[in-house]
Amino acid sequence: MIRWMTALSALLLGASAATGAQTANPWPAGEGPSLIVYSGNIVTLDKNNDTVQALAVRDGKILAVGTDKEILRLKTNATKLVNLQGKTVIPGIIDSHNHPSSQGMKLFWADLSKPTSIAGIVEMIGAQVKRTQPGQWVRNSGIWNDTKLTDKRNPNRFDIDPVSPNNPVFLDRGHMAVINTEALRVLGITKDTPNPPGGTFEKDPKTGELTGRLYEKAIEPVRKHLPAATPQQLEASEIESLKEYAAAGVTSVRSAADSPAGMRAYIDLHNRDDLKLRVSVNILINPNMPAEDLEKMLADSPVSSGLGDDMLRVWGIKMIADGGSDLAYTRQHYVNRPDFFGQPGGTQENFTRAVRLCNKYGWRVGIHAVGDAAVDMVLNAFEAANQDSSIVGKRFAIEHGYVLHPEQMDRIKQLGLVMNMQTWHLYNLRRNFLHNYGREIADTSHNYQDLLRRGIPIAGGTDWTLEPSDNFKWMWVDITRKTIDGEAVDPTQALTREQALRFHTIWAAYNTFEENLKGTLEPGKLADMVVLSADYMHVPTDDIPKITPLVTIVGGTVVFKRDSSVIQ
Ligand SMILES: [Zn+2]
Repeated sequence: MIRWMTALSALLLGASAATGAQTANPWPAGEGPSLIVYSGNIVTLDKNNDTVQALAVRDGKILAVGTDKEILRLKTNATKLVNLQGKTVIPGIIDSHNHPSSQGMKLFWADLSKPTSIAGIVEMIGAQVKRTQPGQWVRNSGIWNDTKLTDKRNPNRFDIDPVSPNNPVFLDRGHMAVINTEALRVLGITKDTPNPPGGTFEKDPKTGELTGRLYEKAIEPVRKHLPAATPQQLEASEIESLKEYAAAGVTSVRSAADSPAGMRAYIDLHNRDDLKLRVSVNILINPNMPAEDLEKMLADSPVSSGLGDDMLRVWGIKMIADGGSDLAYTRQHYVNRPDFFGQPGGTQENFTRAVRLCNKYGWRVGIHAVGDAAVDMVLNAFEAANQDSSIVGKRFAIEHGYVLHPEQMDRIKQLGLVMNMQTWHLYNLRRNFLHNYGREIADTSHNYQDLLRRGIPIAGGTDWTLEPSDNFKWMWVDITRKTIDGEAVDPTQALTREQALRFHTIWAAYNTFEENLKGTLEPGKLADMVVLSADYMHVPTDDIPKITPLVTIVGGTVVFKRDSSVIQ
């Protein structure tokens, strides 16, 4: 049975649609669908999880879905027809947490996501040094994962010094970084420099020498010293990364921790019609900044949460409450480290103050919290803000939340929070979890079904640039709970195939208040969809990671095609 955008249905078909009479093409000259895809296996993800054969697009939105016969009679001479030849189409993937402004900086900086060993990293840095004037900073874009390097450790300054005698080098991994000897010299950091609060200049325990590895707040002075990316670099980086997302079947991203300059670059791209994917932006702030400065910034800001349009929207403010899996702020000390509980990103007082101010000025807040103690701190801050003015219904969010205790989930539900979660953590960081938190805690990570049973919204994402946008691999982990070592972590928490797809589409749309606009293929919604190489709902489970996007469509416009087999 054909389903229409309701207003158009009444307007154009009148009584004939209601009686089901077959009319000829109903369009006035020059009007009608711009695109019809037909003879497909179109997974709509509507509330009945219906599959349809065909779909018509007009003005960037889905006009109607139904059988080939019903939809093809809407065509005009101007309609582009695409015979899907039985191929599967799903709603465009919505990635709820990622970092596009920095992801594309590999155009300018060394992409360290590629090397598989420290020697490979050193070689890449050496090549970058050769392309750089002496004295200029050499940096990275993509991020290495020490557990995946053959050396099973992070590089140090002694590794990179031989290839970088005259250039300061800064290799950023987010919560840790590595700098070379020249950078230490430029920055005036010596082994006598005290650690800043909340940060560490790592020293070799035997020699007492600086290793060049920096942790958390010790990275900030270096970042401040670096020349800022130019607007042209930011735009080029954003264009490049959005291209990569399109190839991964993604039609909407949420930049989880951007800068005002990164936002500016998106605005410029959008004004020039060069923004091809839909973007929601989170602006990163430091909750430890002086309250007067933060209040002035928020009060003076000409924008706040929700402003924007279907292509570009302000999501809110991002803060960071602890480190990654090796620095997560935890209630229990780390295994075999009785004095180590990870690293909080600030005091409870500062987080509470900052969240209350954001709430006061109409900003939604999403906070990175990995360890359970960090989640406690975030919940305390959110509850304090909720006392001033209810945040329920404003969809504040916790980013990551690897391990959540039942009473924390109850508080999350009470506050109406969204959980932005990334399944690759379950897969790739399993060894870190076991090593740092022990099996009992590690086995309760990413308890999706416990969250869903409580009615807590979860939204899937990749955290790219940390991990690539292998969405079908992560859906396979959602379904199997398998880790990098092949074991399945508490399979009772597994998502069904349909749930895994919703997690990366309609549930992620909820995170940006856009569940009525996208995330399913229903009349009236944005025409964002992906044609796949295989039938996601029916291929053998272990074939799911092999599924590749063939065509990605945003608002009825093709933004990616693997080849010309589906669409010319
Ligand atoms: Zn992130």
